[in-house]
This record gives sequence, structure tokens and C-alpha cells, in this order.
Amino acid sequence: MQQNQRAAAGKHRKQASPARSRVAFVALATGTVSTAGATGLALAQNQSPSIALAADSAAPAADNSPQILAIPEFKPMPNLSDQLNKAVEYSNVLAAADVAARTPKPKVHTPAEGAFTSGFGMRWGVLHAGIDIANATNTPIYSVLDGVVIDAGAASGFGQWVRVQHEDGTITVYGHVETINVTVGQKVTAGQQIAGMGSRGFSTGTHLHFEVHPGGGGPIDPIPWLANLGIVVA
Ligand SMILES: [Zn+2]
Repeated sequence: MQQNQRAAAGKHRKQASPARSRVAFVALATGTVSTAGATGLALAQNQSPSIALAADSAAPAADNSPQILAIPEFKPMPNLSDQLNKAVEYSNVLAAADVAARTPKPKVHTPAEGAFTSGFGMRWGVLHAGIDIANATNTPIYSVLDGVVIDAGAASGFGQWVRVQHEDGTITVYGHVETINVTVGQKVTAGQQIAGMGSRGFSTGTHLHFEVHPGGGGPIDPIPWLANLGIVVA
């Protein structure tokens, strides 16, 4: 009979879920429920404020409260491992996002501000091996990526040019320049001014002639190459 009454009492408390979880946390404080079980309940119910509450109020309930009798009724959440797996999964997602956010992306810069006046391709029966960007004389010309200056000076057809070789071997060419801000062998960074726009050499107006040579080989259309770096010229 005594047993039935206890069971009935336990059953009654079981329905009052706030009281039950409170008892569980008190039990954690007194060490009569496994840490894994109590922690699992905390995780599953996401009741971290209750943990603080239970810890704060553990002392008065620890010895005398009849609620302690309900402790054997405590059962871990049946889907505890699912809950834990989800928590671990979410933690992994956060960690991956954090790593991605801190992975340095290549610094890039447009070669020059101005009007796109000519594209890559056959022109007047010869290959126009780059793109033209027109603007005022001495408009700044920038290295599009970090690199090392491999030419800075006079060049046939271009009047003057600057060539920069980048980490992957790609060479960018900046032609018809009026002024030159760098010397051969100098390390430059993306966005660093390397020259000023001009109309030297074979040129019909002040503009930058810009070429891209992947791996130092033949020229390719700079537009998609720049677009791949997030730079839109035209
Ligand atoms: Zn050109």
C-alpha cells in the first residue's frame, strides 16, 4: 500500500513537468543521479537558466524535501543521443564557418578606373591581346594581385609598360603608361599603384592596355579572369 502511494505520488509529480525537472537538477547537486543523465536532460530541454536556478536553490531542498523521493522516477530523455548528435553537429557547423571566415582570401584590385573601350580578340587583323580602359592622363594604375615587378620601363608598341608576376606564375601587363611608380624586383601588393595612365607607344588615346598571361604563357581574355576574382571591368 505504501508502495502504491509512492507510485501514485510519483506519477502525480511526473505530470507536473516543471517540478520534475527541478528535482532532477537538485539531484545533480546531491550526486544521486548520474551526471550524464542530468546533463542530458539539461541539453535536451535547453534549460540552462534552470541549471543556475537549481544550483542557487539546491541547499534547502537537498535533505528534507519530499520531492527527493521522486528521484528514482527520473529517466533520461529517450532520444538523448539524437539531441547530443544534433548539438555536436551544430557545433561542427559553427567551427567550419569560423574557419572559413578566417581563411584569407586573395586580395584583389581593379587595374584602373575608367571606361572600358576595347576587348580581347582580333582587331584590325591582329590579336588585341588585352583590354583597354580609358581615363585621364596619370589616372592611377594598380597591381591587381600581390606580386613582383618583372618589367618597368620602355617596351616596344606599349611605349612604357609594367609587368607583374603573381604567386601562381600569372603575369599581368600594364601598357602605354605615362609614369612608373615601381622598379624591377620590387614586391607589390594588390591595389598598390604601380603606374599612371598614358598614351605612349601605339595608342590612339589615353588608356591602360591590360593583359593576363596565366603561368607566364600566352594571353587570355582578362574579363573572365578578372570576374573570377570578383572584379567587373565591363
Ligand atoms: Zn589595348
